[in-house]
Amino acid sequence: MSSSASVTRRVFLRQAALLAAAGYLLPSAVARAATDPQSLAEQALATLRAGNLRFQQGRLQHPHETLQRRHEIVRRQAPLATVLACSDSRESPELIFDQGLGDLFVVRTAGHVLDDAVVGTLEYAVQELQVPLLVVMGHQSCGAVAATLQSVESTRLAAGQMETLVDAIRPAVLLGQGAGEARFTSIVQANVRLTMERLANSRLLLEAVAQQRLRIVGAYYELESGIVQFLA
Ligand SMILES: [Zn+2]
Repeated sequence: MSSSASVTRRVFLRQAALLAAAGYLLPSAVARAATDPQSLAEQALATLRAGNLRFQQGRLQHPHETLQRRHEIVRRQAPLATVLACSDSRESPELIFDQGLGDLFVVRTAGHVLDDAVVGTLEYAVQELQVPLLVVMGHQSCGAVAATLQSVESTRLAAGQMETLVDAIRPAVLLGQGAGEARFTSIVQANVRLTMERLANSRLLLEAVAQQRLRIVGAYYELESGIVQFLA
């Protein structure tokens, strides 16, 4: 890791260790700082931002793809973040954040629509793997959102189980603001926020956020520029 956030963190930890050695700080405080989930979430976010910047600029490092890495993570995984994204073939999280094997715990459905299995998978990441950061990521030109928009405007049902997706995304369409491309973007971002709100129905995730073991952030991926914008 080479981000300035991790450098700051290393400096902080070294200072904390020096203070502990001088008797100013309990060693347990140093240990706690090293594993503080809030700073782990910050660190994970910084890693994702740095990886996405490399992706935007075509300076990919393709980290953690070696034979050695493959062997290292056979017995255990410690992903830095979990990403709930759309299944769209243009939004692969490992690629757009320039991460490798064992780095991201990824769940993808069209329009990042939730069901019990999706929520259970996210809960597993938080509860069992202690992942400190959960990113919900929508994207430009989302086909699931476009299909929902079409269904709403034509009042025709989508075929088969795709109506389930339309049902879940429909409330976001009603929140869309502006016109044309701007409206579409605002619907995609509303869909991200609604998904985040629905995650609060999970007691496990809610508790993890309340206890500051987990941070949940929304994101919007722009296909043209490669930019992932983290939403306020
Ligand atoms: Zn999509």
